[in-house]
Parts: sequence; structure tokens; C-alpha cells
Amino acid sequence: MRTGTALVWLRRDLRLSDHAALAQALHSGASVQFVFVFDTDILKDLPRMDRRVAFIHATLAEIDQGLRALLADAGLLVGHGRPVELIPRLAAELGAAAVFANHDDEPAALERDAEVARRLALDGRRLRTGKDHVIFERSELLTSAGKPYTIFTPYKNAWLRRISHQDLMAHASEGLARALAKLPPGWRRGMPALAELGFEPDELPAALGAGSAGAEALFDDFESRMDRYAALRDFPAQKGPSYLSTHLRFGTVSIRRLARSAYERMLAGDRGAEVWLSELIWRDFYHQLMHHHPYAMKSAFKPEYDAIQWEQGPKADAHFQAWCEGRTGYPLVDAGMLQLRESGYMHNRLRMVAASFLVKHLGLDWRRGEAYFAEQLLDFDLAANNGGWQWAASTGCDAQPWFRIFNPVLQSQRFDPEGRFIKRYLPQLAALDAKHVHRPWRLGPALTHPGYPAPIVDHAAAREKTLARFAAVKKRLHLNIAVL
Ligand SMILES: Cc1cc2nc3c(=O)[nH]c(=O)nc-3n(C[C@H](O)[C@H](O)[C@H](O)COP(=O)(O)OP(=O)(O)OC[C@H]3O[C@@H](n4cnc5c(N)ncnc54)[C@H](O)[C@@H]3O)c2cc1C
Repeated sequence: MRTGTALVWLRRDLRLSDHAALAQALHSGASVQFVFVFDTDILKDLPRMDRRVAFIHATLAEIDQGLRALLADAGLLVGHGRPVELIPRLAAELGAAAVFANHDDEPAALERDAEVARRLALDGRRLRTGKDHVIFERSELLTSAGKPYTIFTPYKNAWLRRISHQDLMAHASEGLARALAKLPPGWRRGMPALAELGFEPDELPAALGAGSAGAEALFDDFESRMDRYAALRDFPAQKGPSYLSTHLRFGTVSIRRLARSAYERMLAGDRGAEVWLSELIWRDFYHQLMHHHPYAMKSAFKPEYDAIQWEQGPKADAHFQAWCEGRTGYPLVDAGMLQLRESGYMHNRLRMVAASFLVKHLGLDWRRGEAYFAEQLLDFDLAANNGGWQWAASTGCDAQPWFRIFNPVLQSQRFDPEGRFIKRYLPQLAALDAKHVHRPWRLGPALTHPGYPAPIVDHAAAREKTLARFAAVKKRLHLNIAVL
């Protein structure tokens, strides 16, 4: 017989199985109630049509149905407002002694949770949180000197040394059907329409799906080709990566399930699985970095790079706009930016090339690009996005060296040799052969392509300018050191 109510507060863990907070709630012996809050502090800054909101909405509908399938009178409680107010109020209404949630280590989320915990405590209630979103978090992996890792390879080695089957085991949730509470009186059944939340429906890429069913379908497909991941992952025209990032971001799939599969296959000698596991470790790496260095979410990880003089003014703004709209005249960069605009997803190789182009060809502050990606990406994740941008901009802890500047034409020739990906997003270049599709301007003005621009900057000149821009900061740094 269960006594009392345990409230499970869903945030970036939108699923009903292998869920740490749910397992804790079940363990508490109380009846379990679920809530999700559409947080107006976050929603207020989003456009009326936002793919992320559509994804969350469709996923919550799946969860609500899943709960009702277990118990007809049960369902998901959906709030709309400020969690710091709604969660303590709901806990009081339900008489819940504890609210169970999984860690969210983004700085704003930590502040929110501290305030929720404070308000719950006023009433003698507790916010109980734990690890769920990553395999190792916070200070679980430290260097031998007891410091957080800032370089990926030693972090990865420590991760692989430390990992055990225990870390990859699923959290049991079998008892849910018996523990589920009925919806409390006064709460409506079913989901509010998007319009009630102030949003319009937005189309999601069909292949992405939503909810755990969407994640399962994608992972089933990826498991059959994981062994080819290492060979294909860098070629955007190929079906190389898993496309699971949005599901990982919103927790429609458990990281333990994915890492377990990759780890077991790696032990059996699968090279593709080994490389894929390494990407999942990058994800953990950036999360622990965010936890230990929250300042880097707003400024350069290496503070000396905050002194870089970025381009500003009308010309810089026009360049930024051209970059956002896929009009730089460099086909691989433009195709990537159009993929982002059209689908909310961008292939990893293209994220690196497009980010590098913004910083090292256009000379623009990496934070402008970071903010644009944050707005557009379905899988936007503060830790990974910031990590990726600081890597490309050379301002990060384990970043691309500042003097390494991707040549967008060579990247294009290497990773999209036939121009198949380029032509998918830039049909005006469809007739070009493999020689010209990477640099259409070589055909000369007589053959320019309707609707496709000439390059907005010259690669060699941009490269020189960037080297000087970074060298100036380095020089100042050396002078300062010399004075010390
Ligand atoms: C400038 C830039 C911005 C980025 N912004 C984001 C972001 O907002 N959200 C995000 O999830 N990833 C981001 N990445 C990392 C990476 O590009 C995406 O995770 C990947 O492209 C997602 O596609 P996938 O799921 O098919 O990846 P797969 O190749 O199948 O990788 C599996 C999973 O590993 C994780 N992963 C892979 N690469 C990285 C990485 N470099 N850093 C951290 N985690 C990684 C992701 O969770 C991914 O879903 C960014 C990279 C760069 C260079």
C-alpha cells in the first residue's frame, strides 16, 4: 500500500522508462504523479512557431497517453507559468512530501531549482534531484590532482577506465502501473493545444519522430549501421550519424541505453561503436565543463580571447545576415546553413565548417553564431553548443588552434566530393560538375548562376586578417607576461 504522493517533475528527461527521478519516486513508497511546466521564463523569448515547442508538445502527448494506458484515470499534469511558483503550489495541493527531478546543470536551471527547493522547504517539502542526463557528471571524474578535466583525451581515458556495467544499467520502472496516482480533482485530462500556450503548430522533420517511439525508431535504424559510423560520419551526403541529438537533448531516450549498446559493441571490436561512444563522451565532457566553468557560457573559456577585436558595423551585420541565410557564396557553408534553416538539424562536419567560417572568414564574434544556432537547432544544448562554438573559434579549453583555419573549398572537396549534399540544398548549382560545384565563381561572370552569389570574402585575404586578429591578442598576452 503506497502512502502519500511523490511528484515527478519532468524537464529534459521526457520519457517513462530508465528514468532516475521516477525510480527514486517509486522507491519512496508514495503514489506517483507527473508534471511538466511550460516555463514562461523560457518561452517568452521564442518565436510563435518553434520546432522545439512542437517537439516537446508531441512528446508530452505520448507520455500522457502512456500514463492513461497504465491507468485510465491517470495522466500528465501540464502547467504553464513559472516553475518556481507552480511546482511548490502543486506539491502543496497534492500534499507531496517530495518533488523528484533529474539534474539540469545549466546555470539558469540551477538557479531555478535552488529557488524551487527553497520555496518547498518553507513548507517542509523537499526537492530531490539526481543524475540522469549523462553517464558521469559534475565532479565524478577528476584529474589525479583533484581538478576538473579541461582536455578531452585524458577525460575520455579516465571515463573509459572508470566505466562499469553498473553505470550503464537501466533504472527500473516496472512498478509504475501499480504506483500511478489518479489525476487530482480540478485538473483537466489531456494536453492543452499549442495555441493555448501561445504557439502555432510547426512541422517537424518526418524522420525525427517525437517521443520515445521516435527515438526508438531512429536508434533501431542506427544500430544496424553503427559499425560504419567511423567511415561515414564526416560525409553529409551519407547517412552516417545517428540523428539522435534532439532525443538526447530532451531525454526521450536514456543515455545509458545508448552508451551500453556502444560500449558492448566496442568491447566486441566494433570500431564504429568505439568512435560513436567517443561522441557520447564528448557530450559528458561538455556537461562537466559547464558545471565547473559556468562563466564560459557567456565569455571565452580562455579569458585572453575576450580581447579579440571582432568586426562590427553595417558591413559585419550584412555578412552575418548572409551567413544566416546561406548566401556567403561558399556552397558547402551555404548548404549547411540552409539545412539548419529548413530542418533544425545540421550535420556535425558542417557545424564545424560554418562556425569556423563565421569566426575566421567573416571575423565575427562567435557568440553571434552561437546565439543563432541556439535559436535554430532542434537539438540546441547549451553545453554542447557553447563547446562546439568555442572549439571552432579557438577560444575554448581544448579547441582548434587559433592559426588553423578551415579552407571551405578544401573541406567541400574532401567531404562532399561530388557535391551531392550541396546540390540537395542549392538546386541552382545542380548542373555543375564535381570540379566547379565547390567554387562556382571559377566559371567566370558569363556563367554565374541565377540566384547564387559570388563569395562575400576572399579566402586568402580573410585568412591573413584572422591570423593578424588573433596574433594581436597573443602578442599583448606575451607582452603582459614579459612585464610580469
Ligand atoms: C558549432 C557547433 C555547435 C554544436 N551545437 C550542438 C548542440 O546545440 N547540441 C548538440 O547536441 N550538439 C551540438 N554540437 C555537436 C554535434 O554537432 C551534434 O551533437 C551532432 O551533429 C548531432 O547529430 P547526431 O545526433 O546525428 O550525432 P552523432 O554523430 O550520432 O553523435 C551521437 C550523439 O553524441 C553527442 N555528440 C556528438 N558530437 C558531439 C560534440 N562534438 N559535442 C557534444 N556532444 C556530441 C550528441 O548528443 C549526439 O546526438 C555542436 C557542434 C558544433 C561544432
